[in-house]
Amino acid sequence: MFGQLRTEVNKVLETARSGKLIGSSLDAKIYLHSSDADLSSKLHETCASSNDADELHRIFITSQVEILSSMGNGIAESIPYSGDCLIQGKKVWVGVSRADGSKCERCWNYSTKVGSFSEHPTLCSRCYNVVGVQPLPVVAAVEEMFVLAVHEYRVISFGFVLTYL
Ligand SMILES: [Zn+2]
Repeated sequence: MFGQLRTEVNKVLETARSGKLIGSSLDAKIYLHSSDADLSSKLHETCASSNDADELHRIFITSQVEILSSMGNGIAESIPYSGDCLIQGKKVWVGVSRADGSKCERCWNYSTKVGSFSEHPTLCSRCYNVVGVQPLPVVAAVEEMFVLAVHEYRVISFGFVLTYL
C-alpha cells in the first residue's frame, strides 16, 4: 500500500519541483486525506508510529507528513500543489507545500525545532539528541589542556635557553 502511495506522492512532488516550490523532497511537507475511515486510521497509525523506519515522512523522504482528518476551512486552497489518486480502490488526496520550520544543518530535514537549542541552534531535535550524547565538550577540554601544556613547555624551554645564552 505504501509503495503505491509513495508513487502517487512522488508525482505531486515532481509537479512542485518543476513549479520551483521545492528543490529536494526534504524541502516539502506532504498532506494526505482520505474520507475512507479504514484508510484514514491506517495513515494516522503509520504517521504516529514510534518505529522511525515506518514513519511516513521517511518513506516519502520528505521533512513532514500531516494526515488531514477533514478538508474543511479552505485547507485545500492553502496548499499549492495537490492531486487525487486511488489507493486500494479508495480515493486519497495528496497535497504538497513547503516544509515548516528551518533546515537542520546535519540531516537537512526541516523542523520547527531548529533554533530552539541554544548550544546547537542549527540542529533539529533528533540530531540534537544524537550530538548531545557524544562527549564533545570533554574532547575539546582535553585538547585545550594539551595545547596549554605544549605552550608551557615551550615557554619553559625558551626560558632555559635564555638563561644559558
Ligand atoms: Zn537534523
